[in-house]
Amino acid sequence: MCGIVGFTGKKPAAPILLEGLARLEYRGYDSAGIAVFKNDKISVKKSCGKLQMLRDLINDGVDFDSTVGIGHTRWATHGKPSDENSHPHRSQSGLFAIVHNGIIENYASLRKTLKKKGYTFLSETDTEVVAHLLEENYTGDFFETVSKTIAMLEGSYALGILCKNNPDEMYAVRKSSPLIVGLSDEGNMVASDIPAILPVTRKICYLNDNEIVHLTADSVEIFDMDKNKIEREVKTVEWDVSAAEKGGYEHFMIKEIMEQPKALRETIAPRIKDGQIHLDGINLTKEQLEKVQRINIIACGSAYHVGVVGKYVIEQMCRIPVFAEIASEFRYADPIIDENSLVIIISQSGETADTLEALRVAKKQGATTLAIVNVVGSSIANEAQHVLYTWAGPEISVATTKAYSTQLALMYLISLDIAQKLGRVDDKYVGKMLSSIEALPEKVEKILKIAPEIEEMAQRYAYLEHAYFLGRNLDYAVALEASLKLKEISYIHSEAYAAGELKHGTISLIETGTFVVGLACTERLVAKTMSNIKEVKARGAEVLLLTCEDYGVHSEEVDHILDIPTTHELLMPSLEVVPLQLLGYYIAKARNCDIDKPRNLAKSVTVE
Ligand code: GLU
Repeated sequence: MCGIVGFTGKKPAAPILLEGLARLEYRGYDSAGIAVFKNDKISVKKSCGKLQMLRDLINDGVDFDSTVGIGHTRWATHGKPSDENSHPHRSQSGLFAIVHNGIIENYASLRKTLKKKGYTFLSETDTEVVAHLLEENYTGDFFETVSKTIAMLEGSYALGILCKNNPDEMYAVRKSSPLIVGLSDEGNMVASDIPAILPVTRKICYLNDNEIVHLTADSVEIFDMDKNKIEREVKTVEWDVSAAEKGGYEHFMIKEIMEQPKALRETIAPRIKDGQIHLDGINLTKEQLEKVQRINIIACGSAYHVGVVGKYVIEQMCRIPVFAEIASEFRYADPIIDENSLVIIISQSGETADTLEALRVAKKQGATTLAIVNVVGSSIANEAQHVLYTWAGPEISVATTKAYSTQLALMYLISLDIAQKLGRVDDKYVGKMLSSIEALPEKVEKILKIAPEIEEMAQRYAYLEHAYFLGRNLDYAVALEASLKLKEISYIHSEAYAAGELKHGTISLIETGTFVVGLACTERLVAKTMSNIKEVKARGAEVLLLTCEDYGVHSEEVDHILDIPTTHELLMPSLEVVPLQLLGYYIAKARNCDIDKPRNLAKSVTVE
């Protein structure tokens, strides 16, 4: 989950590493550190806390003239956030220094063996074993030592490695944790994600799992685990550097909420041509689809919530049973998946560890796999048989908004494509749906205009301790996402309930002043949801209702109403989620929370 960065070049490394870490800080931010060469030694500087602590500690790196270095921003898995546990970690004699993203699963046995051999451990991390193991395996040949060492590791790792005796070089390795290479005339880089590389270069190479890369100021060489050299195409990143900057907004989250119309347009427009669906990256034929007896949508967090929407939408449109499943549960559940299963995998980063593993399980059992991801060249994109990209651009805020919205848009298009190929809907229906999907960005734009009204409303709810989001069917699916959004950034305890389910226990928590957000945007169920809203109102809840003007809810039935435009009932989640993202954002802002970097979280969850 952390961010790693490395530079070998012709100018001082430290400022480049710090800039790279700033752009990776969304991935982990409980501590940060760098290692550079100084007086023929590897000098390590690290600090618990945000990157600024490290910047202050080393005076923004201006005192280091080393042109080679590695950096890390941590999201602790093994050992609390502390100075000692921060990366880089050094080997016993200081011969090696490393940064690591991932988990070394066999660290306990390695640690025991190394301790017996006299190595002293200064941290509680799993990572430190790798540093000592490199020293233990040292043959005098850097490459040989690296390759021998990683052959002994189990688990997931992206590693950046320096050796005191090779001050102009660096090795980096990738296994089940993201890592890319950047190439330029001023030097070469590795990093966990593209934004860290953009200030130096747009030329990048993707690394695959089980690859080792050797970097100097003038060369980049990629090898497999058997030390065979691999040729890799150099690609150019098309994004604007500003896409990964705040551009005048106070937080990335609000910037990304506001970018949703653009992200939706870029995701939808290339997929609809002359009134027909064009899903580049998916070529499922009618014959293949006719064999599909069940669809599993597998994801984590907000992407899982897209899956819950997908379940309702695909079942209604295609009449195929759909199971939305949490990846970390699915992978250990002995799932009933075979060649008649279609498995849809959703992940913003394309690196989510549990989702990636679930994909592998599904593939192994013969399923057809289709992935919705945002990051080109990511592991899930590489491993799934069919891939559809959300063109949301880089999402930096930990709490997802535009990635969720674009995933949802693709979910509609996939569902429609399946339904059309199977003849479950006629051309008229498809045409109508496609026009409604194309109109979504404009409707979202309209909703974003009520942001000031929502900001004002948020002041009233900012000091609550509990919130409940209630809805039925698609409204329930959106309630799951809205509730997560609120809790993850504002730290208000929040739960989402299927409106009819609350009375089976949880209603006992409703008392005078409890905050309830009712979602009544699924037209055919508005009356039913309103009955449940009345049940909580009767018990003293303060209710904010999200509905559509035409649905006939009277304002006196609740405390506050937020009206949004309508669209086809199945597409309503795309509109509903937007005011609720804004509500979460403004409540968190009123509470003075660190919105882009909520405590304990990290953006891409590359550990189990
Ligand atoms: N497992 C390592 C640690 O706890 C790395 C975690 C990360 O990826 O940030 O330090």
